[in-house]
Amino acid sequence: MQPAELIAPGEVWLVGAGPGDPDLLTRKTEKLIKAASVIFYDALVGNGVLALAEDGTRMVPVGKRSGRHSRDQGSINDLLLEAALAGERVVRLKGGDPSIFGRAAEEIEHLAAFGVPVRVCPGVTAASAAAASAGVSLTLRGLSRRLEFITAHVRAGEELDLDWGHIADRETTLCVYMGKAAAGHVAKQLMRAGLARNTPVLVVENASLADERIFSTRLDLLPLAVDTAIGVGPAVLLIGEAVRPQLQIASVAATTARER
Ligand code: SAH
Repeated sequence: MQPAELIAPGEVWLVGAGPGDPDLLTRKTEKLIKAASVIFYDALVGNGVLALAEDGTRMVPVGKRSGRHSRDQGSINDLLLEAALAGERVVRLKGGDPSIFGRAAEEIEHLAAFGVPVRVCPGVTAASAAAASAGVSLTLRGLSRRLEFITAHVRAGEELDLDWGHIADRETTLCVYMGKAAAGHVAKQLMRAGLARNTPVLVVENASLADERIFSTRLDLLPLAVDTAIGVGPAVLLIGEAVRPQLQIASVAATTARER
């Protein structure tokens, strides 16, 4: 199949661009990028990924970064619809996996309401990339048996309203997206709901990219870590026993010894 035939004219693909490193794209994502006549991309999609597009492809940034100029979701929906109705082969490129905190449902619903066919191609989500970079497993047999993805993003003027009693659980690895601004609040609520002050936390900024930073801390020191050690890039917080440093070193050493 020629790449362009992967996308029918008038069809929209929501495509996961992964955490940033182009080597972490699926092969299908790369083919879709090359097959598109127009690509609408988020602020978090890396340059290395965008560079894979063919020369004639129209590249349209529609990024939403808090505090900067941005398009609202309604106008993104309309741009996608307009391009599809004009018979373009449309790729909507989103950071990580489109189905995780990516507003995919709104776009699918809007396009479907106008009879536009929509398909989804998954991507490597930030928490997976962060765990891989840090050399940890997000689950541990018998110890970390639940994996929870939450977003700590709130609209201006609103409070973060989460069921902390449900979330604060020793056997859970909690992956907090968009959690930098609310890190202090998250830590306080988790400790109030019963998590130990020394619960391990990893903060991973720009996972998979050249300027990646990995910071290992504990719940009560998390606000300090975020304020002092982390920059302006996207960061994910991994909270729970699975990311305990001693455990990483011990388990990595054990594996290496066994492999020898
Ligand atoms: N759909 C995306 C998440 C979008 S929400 C995914 O599956 O990864 C945006 C948030 O994702 C950021 O605020 C940050 O918390 C996280 N994120 C995205 N890319 C990241 C990266 N390279 N490193 C660390 N966190 C990242």
